[in-house]
Amino acid sequence: MSVTSGQFPPKTTYRNFIDGAWVPSASGEVFENRNPANSDDLIGVFQKSTAADVEQAVDAARRAYRHWRLVPAPRRAELLFRAAQLIADRKEALARDMTREMGKILDETRGDVQEAIDMTYFMAGEGRRQYGQTVPSELRDKFAMSIRQPLGVCAVITPWNFPMAIPSWKIIPALVCGNTVVFKPATLTPLSALNFVKILEEAGVPPGVMNLVTGGGEEVGDALLADDDIRVVSFTGSTDVGRTVSKRAAPSFKRVHLEMGGKNVIMILEDANLDLAVEGCLWGGFGTAGQRCTAASRVVVHEKVYRQFLDQFVARARALRVGDGADPGAQMGPVVSRGQLNTVMKYVEIGQQEGATLACGGHALTDGAYGKGFFHEPTIFSDVAPSMRIAQEEIFGPVVSVMACRSFEEAVAIGNDVQYGLSASIYTQDLNKAFAAMRDLETGIFYVNAPTIGAEVHLPFGGTKQTGNGHREAGTAALDVFSEWKSIYVDFSGRLQRAQIDTADL
Ligand code: NAD
Repeated sequence: MSVTSGQFPPKTTYRNFIDGAWVPSASGEVFENRNPANSDDLIGVFQKSTAADVEQAVDAARRAYRHWRLVPAPRRAELLFRAAQLIADRKEALARDMTREMGKILDETRGDVQEAIDMTYFMAGEGRRQYGQTVPSELRDKFAMSIRQPLGVCAVITPWNFPMAIPSWKIIPALVCGNTVVFKPATLTPLSALNFVKILEEAGVPPGVMNLVTGGGEEVGDALLADDDIRVVSFTGSTDVGRTVSKRAAPSFKRVHLEMGGKNVIMILEDANLDLAVEGCLWGGFGTAGQRCTAASRVVVHEKVYRQFLDQFVARARALRVGDGADPGAQMGPVVSRGQLNTVMKYVEIGQQEGATLACGGHALTDGAYGKGFFHEPTIFSDVAPSMRIAQEEIFGPVVSVMACRSFEEAVAIGNDVQYGLSASIYTQDLNKAFAAMRDLETGIFYVNAPTIGAEVHLPFGGTKQTGNGHREAGTAALDVFSEWKSIYVDFSGRLQRAQIDTADL
């Protein structure tokens, strides 16, 4: 493997973006951002913000809201179309920055940036399509209709695994609906967040409409949740933190949109095209080193094809080239941090203690250049029982649990037997079973003859059970998070009409 050479650019200090200006934190403190493929590579230092910075950002957003909500939605959209074009123009550089700060291979970071482009174009289009309803009134000479209204200042709190796509899923619909935003990205990926905000600034989004405050979840996140002027919190991250967000936001009745953990299943029936299924499990399980909310971390295989599938899957996983995501030959990058690597190693131990068979992998990679990063072998456990912790808990690393089943019904039961409900998939040629599974899997997303990953921006995205709280992002569903309905009655009769219908009114 080749790791980025020793010549790194000089240390850059990046700032917060508040009220149209790049400013340091009131704390005077910063935190480091390093390359997970080579921790000698210091990407830059970012502001370790405090409640005082949050207060300033929310104040700027509150003031900017007064004007921004009145800018016609198609005009707001024009700025967003411009932003989409700027992201597209800089796609390669943005992808390279992203690989450097969170590790996934360049093909995947290009995909992440592309999703931000697609989402920004799609949502900008909603500037001309924020449809309401017009219905017949009960009374003569009267119109009855409903319109979407923005809510105010939105807090956007995001994870590190899709550093540009996920912020775009939240920020662009918030802005097109006429809200203003305070954005707190994950501390592991502040550069991609900053790149995105810089583009919005260049596209002409007015001061105060878009604000960025970097720093820790407990400090910055908590201050946002405590602020009465925040009307919406859109959060993506772990289920544990989501629960805290939900509790902290409740006293001030904020609208809370939560997208959280997953333990997604691929079901392989006896009639499946096995080559296709193996390919799907490989990229579903080990893409982004297993650090996708939609990662296929569980595979349930019919007993008749179990051994054949497992042999092929293990052979392919063993052959995956692990390396620096910036290396064109790498097929799987490092995990994002030392903490994430420790979690993966802990679960490998747990799986062995639980009695699962380690079919391949199971070790951190530490030889030579690997030693400077957080690399782990693609790992497969076979003979896994559905109740084992490795089959129940989100590991968020390159570890896949393979289980056998005797029937379609058992596959569905195992698929549903987790606390999460994000994505599921089935490989089969049987149309009836594919449709039955599509109906019965308790997830927000379902795939047929494709892995659990690969959402498109114009359909709703989100999960059931402990993955989500009933909202969705992407598609027009995102507008429901960032707007609320107002019903309007216009009486042009010129006289007092009674609200109750009686024969005299007809
Ligand atoms: P995390 O929950 O640790 O952090 C998410 C964000 O919340 C970060 O910005 C973090 O700083 C912030 N935060 C932490 N503590 C906070 C607090 N007390 N108050 C407010 N904010 C706080 O998650 P992560 O490690 O960044 O991301 C991985 C998790 O995200 C996984 O569980 C994954 O499944 C999930 N995820 C879900 C989806 C989805 O759409 N369902 C998508 C991507 C990732």
